[in-house]
Amino acid sequence: MPFELPRLPYDRTALQPHLSAESLDLHHGRHYRAYLDAVNARIAGTDLEDLALDELVRHSQGSLFDAAAQAWNHGFYFQCLHPRGGGDPHGRLAELVTRHFGDMRRLRDEFDQAALGLFGSGWVWLVQHPGGALAIQTTRNAGTPLTGNSTPLLACDIWEHAYYTDYQNERARYLQAFWKLVNWDFVASQLRD
Ligand code: FE
Repeated sequence: MPFELPRLPYDRTALQPHLSAESLDLHHGRHYRAYLDAVNARIAGTDLEDLALDELVRHSQGSLFDAAAQAWNHGFYFQCLHPRGGGDPHGRLAELVTRHFGDMRRLRDEFDQAALGLFGSGWVWLVQHPGGALAIQTTRNAGTPLTGNSTPLLACDIWEHAYYTDYQNERARYLQAFWKLVNWDFVASQLRD
């Protein structure tokens, strides 16, 4: 079965004014779709056709990996955003943030520095290491924590296509908007037991 473009988990206008409908149309409707189309074109008629997308990411290389990882990363990223997102996490996630970063401000500073320091295109992640510790991770291009041992909790797309429509090349302004949209309930739901 070919992979289908998942619907956005909110209306295309719901993230305004932080991310415009035009930006989401381009990012979700064109870029994300193009990655899924590329995966489908490459696996059609092969024995990879029955793999789930995360398995495909873990078991592919080259251009198939690039398309599959970008497709998986985008599916995860759009779930990390919510029109009523932002603010601070609570409960167990908040306790883990305090334990491993000191407070939310320090997590955010470390995440922002990683995002601003990433040359070119890539992703910034909040991950949970196998021992339970939280950490910031960056991946270049289509890179994804799925190929390592840590569990992705939160993703920020640092490809310019994610923010150029609304913020041109001003990555720092996009990051400010991103923090107003983070779906902490989704992030918390990704924690390991
Ligand atoms: Fe993207």
